[in-house]
Amino acid sequence: MGTDDILLLGVGIQPPWGLVDQRLDTDKQPHELHLEVKCERGMKYACPECGQSHPAHDFQKKTWRHLNFFQHHCYIHASVPRVRCPDHGVKLVKVPWARTGSAFTLLFEQAALALVREMPVNAAARLIEVTDKRLWRVVEYYVSKAVAGFDLSAVQAVGLDETASKRGHNYVTVFIDMERRAAPVLFVTAGRGQDTVAAFGEFLKSHKGVPEQVLEVVCDMSGAFLSAVPRHLPKAQITVDWFHIVQTFTKALDEVRKAEGRVKPLPKHLRWAVLKRGDIGHLTDHQLNALLELLEQGLDTATAWRVKERLRWVRQASTPQGARWRITRFINYSTDLVGTGKLLEPVRQALQTLATHAERVVRRWTSTYTNARLEGLNGLFQAARARARGYRNTQTFMTMIYMIGSPAGAVLKST
Ligand SMILES: [Zn+2]
Repeated sequence: MGTDDILLLGVGIQPPWGLVDQRLDTDKQPHELHLEVKCERGMKYACPECGQSHPAHDFQKKTWRHLNFFQHHCYIHASVPRVRCPDHGVKLVKVPWARTGSAFTLLFEQAALALVREMPVNAAARLIEVTDKRLWRVVEYYVSKAVAGFDLSAVQAVGLDETASKRGHNYVTVFIDMERRAAPVLFVTAGRGQDTVAAFGEFLKSHKGVPEQVLEVVCDMSGAFLSAVPRHLPKAQITVDWFHIVQTFTKALDEVRKAEGRVKPLPKHLRWAVLKRGDIGHLTDHQLNALLELLEQGLDTATAWRVKERLRWVRQASTPQGARWRITRFINYSTDLVGTGKLLEPVRQALQTLATHAERVVRRWTSTYTNARLEGLNGLFQAARARARGYRNTQTFMTMIYMIGSPAGAVLKST
């Protein structure tokens, strides 16, 4: 084996391609190793569309960034034949070391993807010294290829939730398989509400799934989801998961606290004190003192907090009958407690929502699917946001959710 062969080992350069020149450019920092490869002339080449062989019509100069050779950047240059196919016109032939349209070799892309699985894209881009924009293009290519190959034929229970790629705007809705513990993400789409359920129905059908086979959907209490699910997943029963109930009441509490804070001074350290679980052990001393002060002063925020804390008692019901009974008791007790004060309107609304959806909430006691799944999505969203840091738009955020939370991540490993 000569030195040329060693250089080409692993690059994917094989006959009819061969190395004709190599030079190290030491004027550049870092130094650049340039490999010039060439294919034998007078051969026939396959049309990339149909595979029929034709002689070269002409040649086009192309360059690919390859893995660093020690600390030197490495580039491969080649004149790539174009064939004139009677059926497909003039086409550039495929080279074995790169996919069509990419300016990187396959090995370079593999190494880049391995990094992107472990660190934010902009950090990986710095490490391999390419712009993050170009790296994103590679990542998006492989992720969408993996997603196109998803098989949803076994899906029977779906959970869905929405989140914002940035605070307050650019929503995405994520659908997960409630039966899959690892990499549960099935589908990610821009937007929120009814259209996303329609989009999921289409995605399901185009990936071997059967909408009529989906028997359960777990989601929050938003009217948009509740009206769209029967249209696109006609056999599905809707379960409202507990996590979203707590979220609804926590949000109401936060609104009361903000509104009340505008009209009178509230104890310091109150915000996190009321949002956290109220049992001893979860709170710092400051937060505990803030809570005690809050309760002493008889503020509306205290009332909203009492209602939220009382939810845990409902959650502890051990049977559907018990849950139904506790929900009724909880609503009656809280309605009395809340009264008619103006500031407590958000809590009255939360109670109304719970009353409307009580049966769907009770279903979680009969559902076989743990409700921790949707709660776990929050961690996934946070991780995806962190990974897409510095280059975040809806598309990159969605790509990262697939990458971290779906089987696409595993497919990339073996690309
Ligand atoms: Zn052809």
